[in-house]
Amino acid sequence: MEMEKQKSSRIVLVPCPFQGHINPMFELASLLYLKGFSITFAHSQFNFPNPSNHPCFSFLPIPHDLSQFQASSSNFIALLLALNDNIAMPLRDILVHQQQQNDEILCIIYDSIMYKVAEVANNLKLPSIILETSSASLFWTYAAFNRLESEGYFPLKDSIAEDFVPGLDPLRFKDLPIFNFPNVDDLLHLIKTTSDIRTSSAVIWNTTECLEQPILEKLKQHYEIPCFPVGPMHKSIKNVINRTSLTTEDRNCIMWLDKQVAKSVLYVSIGSLASITEREVTEIAWGLVSSNQHFLWVIRSGSITGSDPKSVFHEKNLKEAIEKRGYIVEWAPQKEVLGHFAIGGFWSHCGWNSTLESICEGVPLICRPCFGDQKMNSRYVSYVWKVGIVLENELERGEIERVVRKLMVSEEGQEIRQRAMDLKLEIEKSVAENGSSYKCLDDLVKFLLSL
Ligand code: UDP
Repeated sequence: MEMEKQKSSRIVLVPCPFQGHINPMFELASLLYLKGFSITFAHSQFNFPNPSNHPCFSFLPIPHDLSQFQASSSNFIALLLALNDNIAMPLRDILVHQQQQNDEILCIIYDSIMYKVAEVANNLKLPSIILETSSASLFWTYAAFNRLESEGYFPLKDSIAEDFVPGLDPLRFKDLPIFNFPNVDDLLHLIKTTSDIRTSSAVIWNTTECLEQPILEKLKQHYEIPCFPVGPMHKSIKNVINRTSLTTEDRNCIMWLDKQVAKSVLYVSIGSLASITEREVTEIAWGLVSSNQHFLWVIRSGSITGSDPKSVFHEKNLKEAIEKRGYIVEWAPQKEVLGHFAIGGFWSHCGWNSTLESICEGVPLICRPCFGDQKMNSRYVSYVWKVGIVLENELERGEIERVVRKLMVSEEGQEIRQRAMDLKLEIEKSVAENGSSYKCLDDLVKFLLSL
C-alpha cells in the first residue's frame, strides 16, 4: 500500500548546476527512487545532464539567459545570483504546466543555493525541502554571521586571522569562507539569503552524525525544523549507476592504478572549479617528482589560470620525470579512484564531496584549500578528525616534497592513515542497517509520505 502511494508520488528536484552540487542531488534522487518515489529533475539548461545516462528519472529543462557567464571561481557568486534570478519565472511556468497535466507533485527538493525555488514553491502551495550539499558546520558558521557582524568583526581584518572565532571553535577567522574573499559583499548577500531555512519544511544534509553530531544537534535546536543527516549519500546507494560527470572520465587511469603497489599512489585533484597559477603547477610537479612517490594528477581544462594545461610543462627533464612516476588525466572517475587499492593519499582542495569521498575510503588527505568552505573542511580534516595534513604556506617544491613524504611514507603518516581507516569504519556503520544515516533516511521517507 505504502509502495503504491510512493509510486504515484512525484518529487521534483532542483539542483544547483555545478559538479559539486549535481553529484549529491543525483545521489539523493537515487536513494529516493530506490524507496519508490518518482523523480523529476527540473534542471537549468546550463550544465544540463545527459538524460540518457539516467533512464530512471524524468527531466524538465529550465531555460536561462546566462550566456555572458563562464563558470569559474572568479565570478562564481555573481553567476549563482544571476542563476537564481533567471530560473524563478520559467520554473514556475514549468511546474504550473505539470500540474495542469494532472501530474501531482508531492514536494520540491532544492539545493539551498537555489534559494528562489522556495518562493516558487510557496507561490504554488507546494511543500519544499532543502538539500544542503556542504557540511553542517558551514551552515552553523553562516548562522553565526549576523552575530559576528553585530559584534563588529566585519570586515574581517588580517590581524585576527589566527584568532579563534567566538562560538565557532575550532575555526579561526582565516578558515571562514569570507576571509580574503574578493567579492565579499556578494558572498555575504548569498549567505544571508540562503541561511533562512525556516521557509522550508525540512533540511536534508549530506553528512552524518559520526562526523558532525554536536553541530547537527545545535542546528536542530536552533532552527526547530526537521533535519535529516542521511550522508554520505554515495555510500548508501546500491544498484544504481550514477553517471553525473559533466566532463568525460578518463578510465585509462584505472588500468594504470591496477599496475601499482597497494597504497603507493597519491591522487591529486582540486575539484571542478578551483584554479591555480602556472608557477604553482610547476612547483607541485617538481615537489611530486622529488618525493619519489607515484601520483595520479587531475589537471582539468581551465584549472591553470591563463594557461593551457597541455603546454604547461616546458622543462624536458620535468616532463620525463612526470612520465616515469605519474599519470595525468583531465577528469578522473574519482570515487572509483579513491576506492582503488593503489591509492594511499589524496591531495585535495577539500571540497565537501571530495572530503567525504576520501574519508569514506579511509584515504588520508593533504589539504590545500582554495576558497569557500574548503578552508573549513580542511580545518576539520586536520584538526578535528585528524585524518590529514594541511599544506599551508606558499606552494614551494621542497615543502611539497616534505609533506608528500610525510603523508605517504612516514610513521606519522601511518598514524594518520590508521585514523582515516577507523573513521571509514564509523561511516560504514552509520549507513549500514540501523546506523544513524540509515535511520534518518527511513525517517525522511516517512516525513515525505506525511506531506
Ligand atoms: N570529481 C570527479 N573527477 C575528477 C574531479 C572531481 O568525478 O577528476 C568529482 C568528485 O568526485 C566530487 C566532485 O567532482 O564529487 C567535486 O566536488 P567537490 O565538492 O569536491 O568540489 P568542487 O568541484 O565543488 O569544488
